[in-house]
Amino acid sequence: MPDDARRSLSPTDAVLSDPRLAAATDRLGRKLVKAVVVGVQKRARAGEIPPSEVTERAVAALPATASGLRPVINATGVLLHTNLGRAPLSAAACEALLAASGTTDVELNLVTGVRSRRGGSVIEALLQQVPDAEAAQVVNNGAAALVLAATALAKGRDIVVSRGEMVEIGDGFRLPDLLVCTGARLREVGTTNRTALADYASAVGPETGFILKVHPSNFRITGFTRDVGVADLSGLGVPVVADIGSGLLAPEPALPDEPDATSWLRAGASLVTASGDKLLGGPQCGLLLGRADLVRRLARHPLARALRVDKLTFAALEATLRGPAPPVHTALHTDRGRLRERAERLAAELRRHGLDSRAVDSEAVIGGGGAPGVTLPSAAVSLPAHCADPLRRAAPAVMGRVESGRCLLDLRAVPEAADPALAAAVRRACPVPPGRPDQRGR
Ligand SMILES: *Cc1c(COP(=O)(O)O)cnc(C)c1O
Repeated sequence: MPDDARRSLSPTDAVLSDPRLAAATDRLGRKLVKAVVVGVQKRARAGEIPPSEVTERAVAALPATASGLRPVINATGVLLHTNLGRAPLSAAACEALLAASGTTDVELNLVTGVRSRRGGSVIEALLQQVPDAEAAQVVNNGAAALVLAATALAKGRDIVVSRGEMVEIGDGFRLPDLLVCTGARLREVGTTNRTALADYASAVGPETGFILKVHPSNFRITGFTRDVGVADLSGLGVPVVADIGSGLLAPEPALPDEPDATSWLRAGASLVTASGDKLLGGPQCGLLLGRADLVRRLARHPLARALRVDKLTFAALEATLRGPAPPVHTALHTDRGRLRERAERLAAELRRHGLDSRAVDSEAVIGGGGAPGVTLPSAAVSLPAHCADPLRRAAPAVMGRVESGRCLLDLRAVPEAADPALAAAVRRACPVPPGRPDQRGR
């Protein structure tokens, strides 16, 4: 068979001349399409597929884009899944990003024709939404915001921080390490569970760069605990840098324990730092909001240039701020009844095609460094556990979670508009047991 197969295999160039593959070559580039064809031919040579199917298989194996990043339907029930790129962008943000992807006026005033402040309209949008901030700066992510603040305001000096707020943010990255690598010294105060205002007061002195207040966004300490709020810290005569993490600009009634930039600035924070791709629902970026003199010092520091964001980030962030509510907001506020209806509808459709599926109640979480311990009532489509693997490999990929021997597709983080795509992906990926309706040729 391998010998026959080799003889009957068309040369790669002949396969590439198929109109669909030729069109894909224009779209994806010849290198990429050729690699797909060569891969399929290799499988034909090994006798894994009939030589006559090479072209069809190659067409089917073409990636949707020239990037290796593939779309994933987030059915994990984790609204902000760091491994899935945290917040999905709104349609408005995607459009803005696309519009800015060519050459754009990111640093140019088209009326006067002279250079302007980079991303000026984004800063304006931020300040409109957080009037308590005198100034704002956008950097690459939340960690970059902290690094810039530590470098510009505390290099060679002390950052006073509670031992209860020495946080690991994920994947082995720890805030204390991040701060120390800037050349600032950490002045730890209090204990893991209890820190008092007097602890801070006795540590503050001429060597203090700032007091750092960190919202413990991915864990909770309960029991015999005590911590000091921004309002009290702001009375100690040194700047207070407050890391809220989640990026809420104003209080979110659904998450009463989650801090927001407006409240912490009003309480007296000199500078608030946050991520753009958590509860704010925008692109990956870091926000710095607060006192004009401090923001100016950060913006003028040489490191600011290394941490600056690109036009795509500015475009997506501004559209998130000015445009319709982003998907994270919708996911947070959809009521369980609506999710349950969708789950019932999807499960019934899949049952009609012979799949063992049913709607179940479920619990979703915020994830991604926001609102630890908060669960959101949700609903899911329950499938046999063996569906999880093929679903993950489907196109679009579907990421559920396996719980009590079932594969649950939690709908809270799935936009309603994606339901048909979700159903289609399940039907393609999950095998129907023999004797079920599909197998009887219906
Ligand atoms: C998420 C988070 C960070 C890190 O932000 P990135 O945008 O991931 O760099 C820092 N501090 C807190 C409190 C966080 O929640």
